[in-house]
Amino acid sequence: MIARGGHRVVLFERDRFPRFHIGESLLASVNDAFDALGVQDQIRAMGFPQKWGATFGTGDGRVELYAGFAEPGGVPQPQTWQVERARFDEMLLDHAASCGVDVFQGYRVLDTTFEPDGVSIEVSEELGNRKVTRVKAVVDASGRWGLLARKFNLRVDEPRLANIGFFAHYSGVPRQEGKRAGDIRVVARDDLGWFWVIPISDELTSVGVVLRREVFDAWPQMTHEQVLQRAIDETPAVARLMRGARREWPVRVERDFSYGSKRYAGDRWLLAGDAGSFLDPVFSTGVAIALESGVEAGRAICDAIKRDQFGVERFQHFSRRQRNRYKAFRRFVVGFYSRNFRDLFFQPDPPKGMFNAIVRLLAGYWDPPLGSRILLEAFYASVWTQKRFQIAEPVPGVGSAPRPASETAPETPLEA
Ligand SMILES: Cc1cc2nc3c(=O)[nH]c(=O)nc-3n(C[C@H](O)[C@H](O)[C@H](O)COP(=O)(O)OP(=O)(O)OC[C@H]3O[C@@H](n4cnc5c(N)ncnc54)[C@H](O)[C@@H]3O)c2cc1C
Repeated sequence: MIARGGHRVVLFERDRFPRFHIGESLLASVNDAFDALGVQDQIRAMGFPQKWGATFGTGDGRVELYAGFAEPGGVPQPQTWQVERARFDEMLLDHAASCGVDVFQGYRVLDTTFEPDGVSIEVSEELGNRKVTRVKAVVDASGRWGLLARKFNLRVDEPRLANIGFFAHYSGVPRQEGKRAGDIRVVARDDLGWFWVIPISDELTSVGVVLRREVFDAWPQMTHEQVLQRAIDETPAVARLMRGARREWPVRVERDFSYGSKRYAGDRWLLAGDAGSFLDPVFSTGVAIALESGVEAGRAICDAIKRDQFGVERFQHFSRRQRNRYKAFRRFVVGFYSRNFRDLFFQPDPPKGMFNAIVRLLAGYWDPPLGSRILLEAFYASVWTQKRFQIAEPVPGVGSAPRPASETAPETPLEA
């Protein structure tokens, strides 16, 4: 965004691309970022599976709910993608270079020093040589590493989302019929965990389970492979899908991955993507947030360059949007880890208007018009009522296992 605005950009990337990364299912809202970045043609040419929505099912396979991004209206480009991140991220990095960014791969940023008239960035090359670059402002996009979040102590933990994920790529997993062949499946477990099943190429499917930390801690000591296999075996809807599947990768693990940030910008710095905050991946929000916040950070910097003002006041709007986006998705994600929410979410015949408002949110449109906002509020109000008066018949298999302690964990400062 900044280079396309006609300015000079230097980008330091610790790794060399292509490299594996988790985060394969995109939301429909990423199309807006692709348009802004001018990469629609490149992504279309990559031949990734087309994603038109998500199927949410119960572990026993009795309830399946389809959230199609084209159905509710208000989603301008409903078709999105499931991506192999190694190829996808490389395409974006190459695109940055083709827009004029000086890309340095194999360069780790060690530290930043903020001064009234600029920022010094200290980097180390693969061979260990160090050098310092001077810039006007920094966008920290270092992901969960969180270079500036660590430096300024910005991270806010999310005890309610203390989860652990085990995942691998498989061949031989059957696809859904027709237009839904490329869609993600999310399968709820009775212990409030869940599975993802994401087709990422003609052959490969990404399969992962996310377990509540305290559920996992109660399991006997096992290898990562055994944990994933046990979770598959005891979730009938997934076990059926995996009957003829073959694991093509070792099982990988990620843990305690959710956090917010006290601030998203300061004098001469902004945080984009996971470097700012990260939410549990149940609704596949990570890459959409990363791309949107990156685009918005780029616009904010272009504006700051135009006015030659890089103080925190210039980035207030940016910061507010990051916080609001995080809170909007967070509310839904935290809800998914409670039984009452799931009892309503998995109702086989939900009220149409309310369901459409939810699907728009799941497509990535977190800041909807007033009508949708009211319908979402009505949904949250129903969840609250369900907790107290059980207005809807509980759905079997989505959360009847004993309630984990963290569901009643104290609120984080971000919720206040
Ligand atoms: C289990 C799990 C499943 C997920 N599933 C999904 C999903 O289905 N859909 C989805 O949208 N999201 C998903 N996510 C989230 C997604 O992975 C992230 O939100 C997304 O990758 C964030 O992008 P980013 O650009 O902010 O960070 P990253 O993609 O992590 O990029 C950060 C980059 O910074 C580099 N870097 C780090 N430190 C330094 C340094 N000091 N100097 C130089 N370079 C540095 C890294 O090498 C890396 O390339 C999932 C996450 C997890 C944990």
